[in-house]
Amino acid sequence: MAIERTFSIIKPDATARNLTGAVNAIIEKAGLRIVAQKRILMTRGQAETFYAVHKARPFFGELVDFMTSGPVVVQVLEGEGAILKYRDVMGATDPSKAAEGTIRKVHAKSIGENSVHGSDAAETAAIEIAQFFAGNEIVG
Ligand code: ATP
Ligand code: MG
Repeated sequence: MAIERTFSIIKPDATARNLTGAVNAIIEKAGLRIVAQKRILMTRGQAETFYAVHKARPFFGELVDFMTSGPVVVQVLEGEGAILKYRDVMGATDPSKAAEGTIRKVHAKSIGENSVHGSDAAETAAIEIAQFFAGNEIVG
């Protein structure tokens, strides 16, 4: 398997509970390397662009409200098969269905306030990384 990069967000429910380090510890323990990271307040425009694929879904407004409600930590993670590996480390979207030991099982509050985002494919990973990071901000 190749070395990949994936895009991660530690969402406002997690930053509000001071869980950045706890989430990062799970990420690093899984063998993923944090090669870029910054704490930002997402604008509504950034959140709408980021989640544009969900625009028609009934929860879209709520999702944009949530993602702009407090600080988030955007990250680039690198490692062997990083995209699928991070999806495994995150756990299912709905924390009540997430596997033991996953970030969402351990920390998420609900299907909406579910602590982390991770890219779902190589194409989306590249687009999402480019939305938030310049090339020289990523140091592997
Ligand atoms: P993410 O894209 O954030 O990594 P995901 O890929 O597991 O999550 P998606 O189906 O892409 O899940 O949904 C994007 C986000 O929208 C979810 O993480 C969650 O915050 C929110 N969301 C999804 N389904 C619901 C729902 N039924 N009610 C409220 N919010 C939801
Ligand atoms: Mg998704």
